[in-house]
Amino acid sequence: MSTLEIRNLRAGLPGSDHDILRGIDLTIRSGEVHAVMGPNGSGKSTLSHVLMGKPEYEVRGGTVTLDGVDLLALPTHERAQAGLFLAMQYPTEIPGVRLDELLGEALVAAGRAASPADLTDTIAGQAERIGFDDRFLDRFVNVDLSGGEKKRNETLQLSVLRPRFAILDELDSGLDVDALRAVSRRIEAETNEAGLGVLAITHYKRLLEELRPDVVHVLSRGRIVATGGPDLAEELERTGYAAYADEEAEAQRKADEAAKPTIERPEGFDDPFGDPLADL
Ligand code: ADP
Ligand code: MG
Repeated sequence: MSTLEIRNLRAGLPGSDHDILRGIDLTIRSGEVHAVMGPNGSGKSTLSHVLMGKPEYEVRGGTVTLDGVDLLALPTHERAQAGLFLAMQYPTEIPGVRLDELLGEALVAAGRAASPADLTDTIAGQAERIGFDDRFLDRFVNVDLSGGEKKRNETLQLSVLRPRFAILDELDSGLDVDALRAVSRRIEAETNEAGLGVLAITHYKRLLEELRPDVVHVLSRGRIVATGGPDLAEELERTGYAAYADEEAEAQRKADEAAKPTIERPEGFDDPFGDPLADL
């Protein structure tokens, strides 16, 4: 039994004294599925990025521990080795790196090296379980995949790496009904068979009908403002987020957008968390 514990987590952007995350408290245990829902700009992706250690954000207070290990003190790859996984809202393309190479190295780093033949079998088996066409397996990671195929690719990586906790940032976006069902079944099986704990971030009840959450939280302006059972997602679908959003939030969102720092990137450097559409 593992526990991911987030206590009073506060974070923002360097150079801005506004906190995007304003004191998040969440405890997720093995096998539990927690949904975080919230309006655009409430801080959902920021939460996922801060948990995984995206350098763009400044942590201003609070703690994040996985079985007592201080994750905030670790670089991203060590957080992954400790058992945390992020399925990104916008998965990154990595030209030049094949999926089997990526997964092979990740397993070595986790102390679970697999022989090439075993790795190939594992990847093929997992791909079949989620209906991920094996012609994509030889490609460079996420290169020339559609939005939905990238989301399946993230799920495939999760299935092979078998983390203890997975953050799924809008895994449903870009997936059609059948694909959504297939990836949800796979993740649900992982919660039951291996005790995976899940933090599923979504706008929509659609994902939660497939990946049935134990607990639903509403995030608004960087705070969890409501926590309940699956019925809370039903209620949100009916009422929308109006009760949780307000004009002040919108004004703050615009101020943050305006204060966005320009990041000078050295030639050839690609932020592994970057928005792949940003350069288009
Ligand atoms: P969500 O995923 O809930 O839609 P985000 O976490 O992406 O929201 O963003 C929360 C707020 O923080 C928004 O107002 C957004 O504009 C702002 N924000 C997040 N990251 C950045 C950034 N890198 N630069 C400027 N503003 C940002
Ligand atoms: Mg987001």
